[in-house]
Amino acid sequence: MRNPLYLLGAASCALLLATGAQGEVLTPPPANARLAHDLFRDIVEVRSVHDIGTAQVAKIIVKYLKAGGFSDRDIVVVPEAAHPNQVNVIVRIKGRHHGDPAYKPVMWMGHMDVVDAKADDWSVPPFKFTGKNGWFYGRGTSDMKDEDAAMAASMIRLHQEHYVPERDIIAAFTADEEVGQDQDGPEYLLTHDPKLIDAGLIINPDGGSGEILDGKRIAFGIETVQKIYVTYDATVTNRGGHSSEPRPDNAIYELAGDLTKLSRYSFPFKTNTTTRLYFARMAQEASGQRRTDMLALSRETEVDIAAAQRLAKDPAFNAILHTTCVATMLKAGVQENALPSRATATIQCRVMPDETPAETEAALKTVMADPKLHFTSLTDVTTAPESPPRPALLEKVASVVHSMWPGVPVVPEMAAGASDSIFTRKAGIPSYGIGGGWNDLHDLRMHGRNERMRASTFYQTVELTYRLMKSLAG
Ligand SMILES: [Zn+2]
Repeated sequence: MRNPLYLLGAASCALLLATGAQGEVLTPPPANARLAHDLFRDIVEVRSVHDIGTAQVAKIIVKYLKAGGFSDRDIVVVPEAAHPNQVNVIVRIKGRHHGDPAYKPVMWMGHMDVVDAKADDWSVPPFKFTGKNGWFYGRGTSDMKDEDAAMAASMIRLHQEHYVPERDIIAAFTADEEVGQDQDGPEYLLTHDPKLIDAGLIINPDGGSGEILDGKRIAFGIETVQKIYVTYDATVTNRGGHSSEPRPDNAIYELAGDLTKLSRYSFPFKTNTTTRLYFARMAQEASGQRRTDMLALSRETEVDIAAAQRLAKDPAFNAILHTTCVATMLKAGVQENALPSRATATIQCRVMPDETPAETEAALKTVMADPKLHFTSLTDVTTAPESPPRPALLEKVASVVHSMWPGVPVVPEMAAGASDSIFTRKAGIPSYGIGGGWNDLHDLRMHGRNERMRASTFYQTVELTYRLMKSLAG
């Protein structure tokens, strides 16, 4: 029997076709779709924020895995020693070459935590799974409990089909990605029990995804590399004094002058393997000057500065063409009738992956050129190399994507944001962000209010995950 919400979702959406070019069905078999839906519902209704942890979501996922036929031998539950409410779950389907180092497992990785949501800000209850007009509403419906449900449902489907892949397939459901630091699941597993996730390839659906613009599927992104996240406080101090006797030296004016210099500075433009491929593929969808500029930036020659400057007018392209640093907060003075003894600006930087935060800090000091300006780094910096956009892998993913959405360009991407892939890449495991959920670029709601997922997209994500698992491990 089909779930009514399933029917509602699949039938109500003209934008996203439920069948492919050959008329094949793009959703999983009804029983698997129903299971995916119920699991999705159950985990969305758990408020798995940082302070509460992932134990309850882990319990639900284990319950479904066992009901789906997995035994205790296949499932490992890992509570974090110092934070037992942060729990990770690993389930494995053994491949024909299990244990052979030439056939290392392929691992899917999905975080079970969410950022918090205030019920007052939402028009539906954030921790209730609400189906409405072809959408599923609730915190985590697009980041990333939809993918967690897709991973678990696909593992169960493969298990019930007695599917034996060439290499092991692992699904790791992990803790505390959003706040992370010492409680982050993948980081914990890598330091405490790396043999549990001894993968040769990681797929992290938290990064990369399909992109919809004005109702059209414009690209399917594969995240291969991330920029480095680093935040500074830049402070000018002064002996202060009475505001009735102002002097030329003033912490606020000095800092404002320094920030003006920063606002006029552009870090050098550069490209890498990922962004060159990105521009090459996106050029095929573009026309006129934009196409010419993208083609110029796809070449492995010196960067065409004029082309980069034109493209960088678009903030999304600007973000992937160079390091960026921007003032995000200001703090200064103690009261209205006192000269400021201190003025601090918070400067948030996204550093190109082949540069170091030390180089960025040095550049900031040179640009702002104020010996009185003092920098403090506010972040623990994690850096990781690019996972090479290997043609064989891109082709495999493209053929699965095209089996569902023919003709959509499949493009490697550099993310300006961060995900758990940074830890697995740092540990030397090539990690790729491949999400199923198609995002409407004009209506991104991850971490925001009234987060939602189109019901038909959810079921297609489940189907895509199943097909990808078979293709990449088969
Ligand atoms: Zn996420």
